[in-house]
Amino acid sequence: MASLQVRGLSVGYGPVRALRGVSLDVPEGAVVVVLGGNGAGKTTLLRAVSRTLAFHRGAATGGSIGFDGRAFSGPEGTAGLSPARAVAAGVVQVPEGRQVFARMTVADNLRAGALGARAGSRADIARSLARVHALFPVLARRAGQRAGLLSGGEQQMLALGRALMARPRLLLLDEPSLGLAPKMAATIAETVTEINASGTSVLLVEQNAALALRLASYAYVLEVGEVTLEGPAAELAASDEVRRRYLGLTGEDAPGPRTARTLDRWSA
Ligand code: ATP
Repeated sequence: MASLQVRGLSVGYGPVRALRGVSLDVPEGAVVVVLGGNGAGKTTLLRAVSRTLAFHRGAATGGSIGFDGRAFSGPEGTAGLSPARAVAAGVVQVPEGRQVFARMTVADNLRAGALGARAGSRADIARSLARVHALFPVLARRAGQRAGLLSGGEQQMLALGRALMARPRLLLLDEPSLGLAPKMAATIAETVTEINASGTSVLLVEQNAALALRLASYAYVLEVGEVTLEGPAAELAASDEVRRRYLGLTGEDAPGPRTARTLDRWSA
């Protein structure tokens, strides 16, 4: 298990200030969610942690990121840890939009996930593959097919499976439910719970607050690059503001005790 500490993080893309003084913790073994609408800075936060901001012409302008007490970000003006070293340390990102290698087979996509040093020995890789196939049997059945032929939900499974091949200690998930039917999104959510139960900390960014608050123990709300609200997921799920703005409940139906109980149960 692993823990992440983000302190006062500010990020810019040239003149665009995407994050301002963001502080956040993922305690060891936790699932933590960051909620926020389009453009709030959720993806930027994950890029900063996975050290991939430079690929998008972004850069941290202040603050720090620590993983297990190790500094991920360098002193101001320096690049800090490389993306490859972040993966080697156990921080693996599943990017938004199910980015699989469409022309490669499902099996080769999974193999690609095991290219880094962290994947371990051949025996470790075989064990990781068996685990991915146990979590997502469809990826075993369709091993020889091109990934581009999979459904959206199956591609999300493959993207997640590929990340697991690198044996992450902290998994960064960017809107895994985006564009999926509710049943498929729920399946993905269950798998994330299973992955967490077997020892991986998770930082999840989501617009789907109902799903995310069910998964997470602690939640942050990001608005225009700043954390505006944070607390235990159960508390946020019950908060009028979150329910109105992120759970699609209006003032009239929001206070219903039945709804509140349901949300509490989800986030238990
Ligand atoms: P979404 O849910 O729409 O993906 P988000 O919360 O993930 O949104 P980010 O993608 O992190 O938000 O974007 C935060 C801000 O940074 C936005 O104003 C966005 O336009 C800007 N931004 C993101 N990537 C870049 C980039 N490569 N160059 C310039 N500006 C960018």
